[in-house]
Amino acid sequence: MKFQSTRGKAPLVSGLQALMNGLAPDGGLYVPAVFPKLDFDWERLKDASYVAIGTQVLSLFFDEFSEAEITNFLTEAYENFDYPQKVKIQELDSRKDLLELFHGPTLAFKDMALSLLPYLLTAAIQKTQHKETLVILTATSGDTGGAALNGFNNVTQTKIVVYYPSVGVSKLQRQQMTTASGKNTHVVAVTGNFDDAQKAVKQLLIDQELIQRMQARSLRFSSANSINIGRLAAQVVYYVYAYAQLVQKGRLKAGQTLDVTVPTGNFGDILAAYWAKKMGLPLGKLTVASNANHVLTDFFASGIYQADRDFKVTSSPAMDILVSSNLERLLFDLAGADSVAGWMKDLAEKQTYEIDDKTLAKLQKQFNAAFCDSAQTSQTIKKIFTENNYLLDPHTAVAVAVNENFPSPDQQLIVSTASPFKFAETVLTALGQTAAADPELNLNKLSQFSKQAVPAAIADLFTKKPVHTQKLAIKDLRADLIETLGL
Ligand SMILES: *Cc1c(COP(=O)(O)O)cnc(C)c1O
Repeated sequence: MKFQSTRGKAPLVSGLQALMNGLAPDGGLYVPAVFPKLDFDWERLKDASYVAIGTQVLSLFFDEFSEAEITNFLTEAYENFDYPQKVKIQELDSRKDLLELFHGPTLAFKDMALSLLPYLLTAAIQKTQHKETLVILTATSGDTGGAALNGFNNVTQTKIVVYYPSVGVSKLQRQQMTTASGKNTHVVAVTGNFDDAQKAVKQLLIDQELIQRMQARSLRFSSANSINIGRLAAQVVYYVYAYAQLVQKGRLKAGQTLDVTVPTGNFGDILAAYWAKKMGLPLGKLTVASNANHVLTDFFASGIYQADRDFKVTSSPAMDILVSSNLERLLFDLAGADSVAGWMKDLAEKQTYEIDDKTLAKLQKQFNAAFCDSAQTSQTIKKIFTENNYLLDPHTAVAVAVNENFPSPDQQLIVSTASPFKFAETVLTALGQTAAADPELNLNKLSQFSKQAVPAAIADLFTKKPVHTQKLAIKDLRADLIETLGL
């Protein structure tokens, strides 16, 4: 299996190389040169474990690893999840199920890929006999940072650098990042939003002067953002597993269409659903759920991507994004590298681009898109708790609310991306409770109110002392990196 760049100006590479590079040298994102097809024998798959299905899917992407190796990576990566099957299907009503992806150590779906990525990356370094240490540059809107720091904590031959926006992340997300104890961690609050941080990371990753200085010190960049192909591949797995489980539970007949709604920011999670569909999974409409930063809703309606607009800090901060990276991979699939290169150039220069009608029609055939503001998000949290006695986190609540806009005869799967305890303040307020200033107190309040235990993974989080207190302007990140890495 080979991987190509969405901008068509970089050489084809192996899966191992794509994992290590993160971003392609022409600034594009890696995608499979030919999409693998899965063999869906539901009689067998409906009883298969998460690790077994994961092995089958990931072997298709990374055929340099043996199946036994991949099984080992998956087994170890998900060992400390607090749900034995790793992901949980929760029935909402007769036609809707939630896919809970937050049973990992940092309580958001980012753990699904970022617990695994260190295993893939370190094995890739070993197999390609690289002697360098990987410097994993990561921009986060809040959840990727914690999950990446946890996954790469003291992993040999890696250094993990995280930039998070100083405004917008929740207190709990901040605490998870600033208390990261690994010797290989470097965490910086940046003045700016996620888009600023992500743009800075993408520039650093292809900064030739830096890359040369790093080579001299046996260092090499990679990325833990969903620009890394390893994250996308790991995320395809749970759609296949969810489908198999729904067949197992009698919620779907083998081959029946399943619609999927995904709360979306950087377009990684929903792109993985699209890839699963391309690989043959019987998925129907894919619904892109956004918050008040509804750049994607507008794009799917008009074909005009307009990043030049006010950035809003919302109650679903992981979706506070105006430049959605992985959309590039979808556009490549529908329109090819030349079109994508042109549009991305327009985006960089003018903060906007417009796709042609033919591509727009293709998009609209496969996707729905809508958004939900913070007030509606709160109402949805309250409604679902009152009617179903089920606690939604604000990101999942956006998806549940948006899903209502698109009545369909098909069975619905709504992706649940974070534990409500990760956003206890917002959830308490939505439920009509008074939230405290102290985030630890809010965990206990939410636990008492909902009669659910605080997840063990964060039970002692607030006893830890922050060790990463640095705050920098975007323009100073490069100099800081030079100093931190001793370049
Ligand atoms: C990252 C994140 C999202 C958005 O996922 P993308 O892959 O960036 O679209 C949604 N919800 C939560 C809780 C997240 O952490």
